[in-house]
Amino acid sequence: MNIVLLGAPGTGKGTQAHFIAELFRIPIISPGDILRHEIKNRTKLGMIAKNFVKSGKLVPDNVIVDMIKKRVENKNAKSGFVLDGFPRNLSQAKALEEMLESIGKSIDKAIYFDMEEKKIVARLSGRRVCIDCGETYHLQNNPPIKDNICDKCGGHLYQREDDKPKIIEERLGTYNRNTAPIIDYYSKKDYFLAVNADDNIESIRNNLRREFIP
Ligand code: AMP
Repeated sequence: MNIVLLGAPGTGKGTQAHFIAELFRIPIISPGDILRHEIKNRTKLGMIAKNFVKSGKLVPDNVIVDMIKKRVENKNAKSGFVLDGFPRNLSQAKALEEMLESIGKSIDKAIYFDMEEKKIVARLSGRRVCIDCGETYHLQNNPPIKDNICDKCGGHLYQREDDKPKIIEERLGTYNRNTAPIIDYYSKKDYFLAVNADDNIESIRNNLRREFIP
């Protein structure tokens, strides 16, 4: 199963990505997670990406496309993958189609997480992430059992620098300018599926399960 998750940051793509990845035993490919890891480890790629990520702007396409291509072609993605955060503009969408075609693959499902912008701001500012396993929580909608501790692995939860108000604004601007137009592009494909991202986690999960295993 080759699955693409679309939608603004904060609409719950990451949470459902974990569910889908477990359902099909396929890896999640999240450029945001990869870049944060590279930045933390001060690699060459991390140094290139740092200021873009910090300010909520898109990292240049050539950097991102190369990075994703390696992962999509990796043997751990033989049975498929969940792309969370790619493509984020039309040229990335075209690059994805080309890279899949060159290895005889195609997209099976593009799932769009649809949500009003004012709700997205509240979602992002309450988001907390596990420093060890990357699991995401929300202070109101999906709190951990123990304050600031990950239910899954016991790691500490933190707030991403770019989930702070000023950067949220910038990221939503980037989304509206670059990413929102590709929703129209994907909505014409027969593998497109829109979900109401404002539903609770469990009902979205049940909808997706029904969609995949009718
Ligand atoms: P995310 O965790 O998906 O919200 O991504 C965090 C940041 O990583 C974004 O604000 C961008 O700076 C960068 N990033 C993630 N995915 C992409 C992409 N497909 N193209 C360019 N930059 C990206």
